[in-house]
Amino acid sequence: MELHKYPKNPERCFSIFFIILHINIWIVQTYPQALTSWLELRNQYLNILLQQEASSHTHCHICNIQGDLYRCKDCFGSPLCCKECLLHSHTHHPFHRIQKWNGQFFESVTLLQLGYLLHAGHGSHACQHSSPDNETIICIVDVLGVFQHKLRWCCCQEPEPAYAQLLRLGLYPASIEQPETSFTFSLLDYFHIDSVECKTSANNFYNKLRRFTNSLFPDSVPVSQFSVPLTFD
Ligand SMILES: [Zn+2]
Ligand SMILES: [Zn+2]
Ligand SMILES: [Zn+2]
Repeated sequence: MELHKYPKNPERCFSIFFIILHINIWIVQTYPQALTSWLELRNQYLNILLQQEASSHTHCHICNIQGDLYRCKDCFGSPLCCKECLLHSHTHHPFHRIQKWNGQFFESVTLLQLGYLLHAGHGSHACQHSSPDNETIICIVDVLGVFQHKLRWCCCQEPEPAYAQLLRLGLYPASIEQPETSFTFSLLDYFHIDSVECKTSANNFYNKLRRFTNSLFPDSVPVSQFSVPLTFD
């Protein structure tokens, strides 16, 4: 097996370090006798975890094409695949977090940057009467972070208002007229339990989501779509 290069992504290295630290503390507290066994394997643990942060592959695992490779942090196993296979496999997973292998480390990219398009009005399938003129950028807050997506509205005869189209997608709009920010119901359920059980304030909860979205620069994450004037490609 080819020896992997170690990652150069400082954010991921810190995450791995703290994961190992917490596992170590848990083992010591719970099973003191197991520490000796774990200590003999800790370098192997570290090597395997760090190897996940480097790629020795050059071809898509799905279609076997050669080129830029991507992986999803939220798909089980995080298989490496090309952009087309990644977009196809995420048709119904708009809130997964994507990374691109740039030759040195996996850097975060968004589905929006890869050309992902959300459809409203027909159960997330494309409306036959809409066009690129009917697209807007919408900020969607989910359990896994704050996302921006390009959404194409349904333009059938007598279409439902925007707030209704969002509700049918499982998104709770932040406003009624021309909503540009919305929340997933998974997030609302999670916040409800978090506030009841952990007494988390809305402000602290949102700050947590910002760190999920960008742990190095959480202040760069928008508080609403209005704070990020984006232009279409
Ligand atoms: Zn592919
Ligand atoms: Zn995924
Ligand atoms: Zn339609």
